Amino acid sequence: MATRDDCLALVLLEEKKAKEAIEKLEKAYPNAAYYLKFATPIDLVVAAILSAQTRDEVVNAITPDLFRKYKTAMDYANAKPQELENLIRGVSFAGNKARNVISACKIIAEKYNGMVPDRMDELLDLPGIGRKTANTILINAYNKVEGIPVDTWVIKLSGRIGLSMGKKPDDIEQDLMRITDKKHWHNLAYVMKAHGKKICHSQVPLCSKCLIKALCPKNNVTKSL
Ligand code: SF4
Repeated sequence: MATRDDCLALVLLEEKKAKEAIEKLEKAYPNAAYYLKFATPIDLVVAAILSAQTRDEVVNAITPDLFRKYKTAMDYANAKPQELENLIRGVSFAGNKARNVISACKIIAEKYNGMVPDRMDELLDLPGIGRKTANTILINAYNKVEGIPVDTWVIKLSGRIGLSMGKKPDDIEQDLMRITDKKHWHNLAYVMKAHGKKICHSQVPLCSKCLIKALCPKNNVTKSL
């Protein structure tokens, strides 16, 4: 697990180099894509709520049965909390997440006629949904790009590569939006995750094998130690 200091930029990369690093990463992972399985916007809302502090593999193992049993916002709104909690037992904070899914789906069923809203402010009003999840839903359910989902990989790599000195996800998102062209926003988080899993590992990044090692401040600081 990275420490908070590890997630803070050692040196802020100048904007031109930051753009270059992002372009290189994007080219290196052309198939990077959202990692949770879903078929409908309501599936995505539920999977995204379940995924907080839980590995994707765990969520993807649970959701097929869940999506077979509950198909609409009304189905979830009418679910018994204990029954839903039992079905999602493998995720962290299953009780809280079950309650959030039911509460969010009640609002979607009653206020939005069962349709997941496609506006940031409306998504942010739903229990269990913050800006990262709202961005994820807008991008992947509606192809609407208003921002960048900032997950733990984005926080970690943005700090290491020197793309942001921000400590909070919202600040990091603003920094990334300022230095990147909008065409990168929809999959930047998935590109960073792919690079983190393959090369820029949490504990020991494989800097010698990294295609942006000449640009990355963390590699250059580590080399000089
Ligand atoms: S050079 Fe090292 S720290 Fe920098 S992005 Fe590559 S693997 Fe990560």
